[in-house]
Amino acid sequence: MESGRIIRSLVPSLCPLCRGAVEPDYLVCSSCIGSLNAASVIRDDPPEGIDRVVSCAGHEGVARELLAAYKFRQLTGLAPLIAGYMADAAQPDGQQDLILPMPPARLRTWLRGFDPVASLTRAVAAETGIPLASGSVITRVGSGRQRGRSRSSRLADPPDIRPVDSAHPIAAGRNILLVDDVMTTGATLSAAACALGLAGASGVEALTFTRRM
Ligand SMILES: [Zn+2]
Repeated sequence: MESGRIIRSLVPSLCPLCRGAVEPDYLVCSSCIGSLNAASVIRDDPPEGIDRVVSCAGHEGVARELLAAYKFRQLTGLAPLIAGYMADAAQPDGQQDLILPMPPARLRTWLRGFDPVASLTRAVAAETGIPLASGSVITRVGSGRQRGRSRSSRLADPPDIRPVDSAHPIAAGRNILLVDDVMTTGATLSAAACALGLAGASGVEALTFTRRM
């Protein structure tokens, strides 16, 4: 199968997370899968403006390694594995009208050559059946650089996220599931929820793979 060959060429035959042996047809080793399966889904304390939030695991251990391998080593073949956990945690209940990726900080996307959150969102949409937004709804203004900043600095100066001109017909009256890779302070999710509110969204839920505690 072509698709199987593509995944094989993108993911090493050793476990990309721990270098252990990987059984045929698996992307990571059974030990790492066991750790991921044992992680506790986190649903507490939604950030301001977010009705419900769910994260698959704390930002630590194997979950953190998996996300880093996907984002920074660009092992794009790992996307279905991450998205599978996210789709399970999302528990779609028919209340989400639309699924939408957190917009990237543009410089970062350009440097990486791919948008890891957009790819995950497409895969979660396919798994859950929640319709993917037909166009962009919100955008970041400026670099939106949050990485490497202190918690207090992030909270005091959240990224500038605004609705795009064509946002209203897509978002108005919709309950939106917003997807990001990791939640840290929640400041970025809150800024995005505010922008979606301006675009007319009736509600915003959030789904992330990991969450810093
Ligand atoms: Zn492993």
